[in-house]
Amino acid sequence: ATTTRGTTRPLDAQEVTEASSDVLQLTVIEGLQVGRGVARIDPSQIARLGCKPGDIVMITGSRTTAAKVVPSALTDRGQPTIQMDSQVRQNSASGLGERVTVRKAKVRDAEKITLLPLSAGTPIQESDLQYIARYLVGLPVTIGDLLRIGMPGTSPREFLIINTSPATPAYALRKRATSELPPIDPPQPTADVEAVLVQPGTLVRAQSRGATNHGPGIISYEDIGGLGKELQRIREMIELPLKYPAVFDRLGVEPPKGVLLYGPPGTGKTLIARVVAAETNAAFFVINGPEIINKFYGESESRLRSVFQEAQRQAPSIIFIDELDALAPKRAESGGEVERRIVGQLLALMDGLASRGQIVLIGATNQPNALDPAIRRPGRFDREIALRVPDVRGRTEILSIHSRDAAMANDIDFARLAQLTPGFVGADLEALCREAAMIALRRVLPHIDYQRGYIPYETLINMSITMADFQAALRE
Ligand code: ADP
Repeated sequence: ATTTRGTTRPLDAQEVTEASSDVLQLTVIEGLQVGRGVARIDPSQIARLGCKPGDIVMITGSRTTAAKVVPSALTDRGQPTIQMDSQVRQNSASGLGERVTVRKAKVRDAEKITLLPLSAGTPIQESDLQYIARYLVGLPVTIGDLLRIGMPGTSPREFLIINTSPATPAYALRKRATSELPPIDPPQPTADVEAVLVQPGTLVRAQSRGATNHGPGIISYEDIGGLGKELQRIREMIELPLKYPAVFDRLGVEPPKGVLLYGPPGTGKTLIARVVAAETNAAFFVINGPEIINKFYGESESRLRSVFQEAQRQAPSIIFIDELDALAPKRAESGGEVERRIVGQLLALMDGLASRGQIVLIGATNQPNALDPAIRRPGRFDREIALRVPDVRGRTEILSIHSRDAAMANDIDFARLAQLTPGFVGADLEALCREAAMIALRRVLPHIDYQRGYIPYETLINMSITMADFQAALRE
């Protein structure tokens, strides 16, 4: 902003302090448990921005958003890097490893903010709005930000901020993997306001334009726990060629066409595929192995062909084949005519793909040894990643991911819970968190007055999930 401002006007006091603050280019690194609405950077960089910890900064990736700046952890110091809460990162439309621009923000307290509910669900009521208002206190927001808010007793809801008072600029909306966001009719921005900070007295309203369903929610790498190394490899194999095909062209390297994810059920194979599609803004297609063989009996091959055609039309695309072993079993053993034809068709389609990395197949299986070896030859599913049952650290991460949108009591100790759950995979841990939430809910149910038709604010605020709820869930 400093560079675009005209120089003819004399600088007032505020602008002078601003002129002494830098605009920084920082590299985005993964930030688990960064804190809602927070960006963490090196303290020396905070000073260069002309900020103190807790101040609000504007972060610009492909989009601009606001965040509260906080010093990075000791282990991450001395680097020109930035870690963001996943929501902030999504709102800045930046990917891991990319660079963002960071500068001090001009903020004012929010008098009012207006939300548009995105995900379909029950209508937003006054008590929900009070809850949301409380949840948002301390968060900086801008028009066009997407928020995912954990609501007690239901799955998280998504909202688009469509107005604020005073009005911030409406930073360009990001196209989502599955759909466009609804167009908003932005108000005239207030001079010298880049972001507003939600206060205890901020009025929160919802636009009742009728909730629109926007497909699967926003998901990101921060939704995957316990897979540091594997995730890194997946990003190299899939994200890189989808995002920067020229890099591969230039080095004469063939980007992979097919990546095989194998491991026990519930270890996150489907989740990974969806996240990579969302992060790369690729169209996402799912083929279910058993379904294409049984349900589409007789039209399996034409079905496969039409998925490939559509994927090519909408490229960049990811085609996810779940239970690949059902579709491509070892020929010798199955010997079935149908399977043989279908594998033949799949191989032909894969071989026919121009290999520019713009269409990537991700195959998932629990039993890699049951696969037809032909499907793992070079140019087909020739890269593999094994997913294992998570260790204690992985389980701790996954538990905190699945509890991050819920109200947790202070006694929650995820590391301890992880020790109590050996052998649990991601799906089991997610189920455990859900069960603990249900137990917490049952605890408050007797206090709900059904006559009133809504849950009083005080009841909502006092709801939280305790360690005892988790322990009870473990016993069930
Ligand atoms: P798979 O495809 O390997 O059978 P899924 O991806 O369908 O497993 O996992 C089911 C659910 O379990 C996911 O939607 C997610 O909520 C949770 N889950 C599984 N693995 C992880 C993980 N590593 N981190 C976070 N959540 C996970």
